[in-house]
Amino acid sequence: MLRSKSQKRFCKRLHLVRSIKFGSCPSPSPNRLGAGVEVMDQSSVTLSSGERFEASTVIWAAGIRAAPLTAQIPAERDSFGRLMVDSDLRVPGVQGVFATGDAARAACDNKGNYSLMSCQHATRMGAFAGNNAAAELLGIPTKPYHQKAYVTCLDLEAGALFTRGCEPKVEMVGDVAKKTKQEINTAWIYPPKPHRAAALAAADPERVIDL
Ligand SMILES: Cc1cc2nc3c(=O)[nH]c(=O)nc-3n(C[C@H](O)[C@H](O)[C@H](O)COP(=O)(O)OP(=O)(O)OC[C@H]3O[C@@H](n4cnc5c(N)ncnc54)[C@H](O)[C@@H]3O)c2cc1C
Repeated sequence: MLRSKSQKRFCKRLHLVRSIKFGSCPSPSPNRLGAGVEVMDQSSVTLSSGERFEASTVIWAAGIRAAPLTAQIPAERDSFGRLMVDSDLRVPGVQGVFATGDAARAACDNKGNYSLMSCQHATRMGAFAGNNAAAELLGIPTKPYHQKAYVTCLDLEAGALFTRGCEPKVEMVGDVAKKTKQEINTAWIYPPKPHRAAALAAADPERVIDL
């Protein structure tokens, strides 16, 4: 239900595009159902129907899939094509194969939370998978993957938001959240500098970046 004038104004400028004609947006916005996005550039979106409209902010919610390479592993996969892995990120039943990042569905904790296809999960899972593959070759104990911290940081043109936890609680909004997103995108998600100490520190499975 759209109540405030500002919500109604926002929805007049909101275009919902969906390639299937199931359901519709309960708003006065112009819906484009049954047409997919063909082309996006800095200022517009062109649909498969040929229609083109101006857009300064585009939110893409089409979903993502694991790389087709996962299909070459004879093991169970989820609906995103991710390999189901055990707590050490090993693919059960396939000797010597660990899966990580977007290619794996792993339990993050013992509360029923599972990894998402995101940088923050992929970087930590990569550290555990690398550690565990090496540990297995060396015959030393492997370490169960866990994801102690989970945050979401969004920065759309109109504003920014930072939440913490799988049951998200808002911690920051506005400029401070925007600055945090910039720090994430320009520093935290990048691989370490090519120095031995920095590379080994980043590969430590127990390293937790606390924002
Ligand atoms: C447009 C977009 C925006 C995103 N924005 C965010 C965001 O804001 N925040 C966030 O947390 N996450 C975001 N993600 C998700 C995030 O990028 C991924 O979850 C993360 O990169 C997964 O890391 P990965 O190492 O598992 O896979 P990738 O980063 O995809 O790395 C896999 C690598 O394997 C290589 N590869 C694939 N097949 C083969 C093969 N057969 N042989 C050799 N190499 C191969 C690929 O070239 C690639 O370099 C975004 C993803 C997309 C597509």
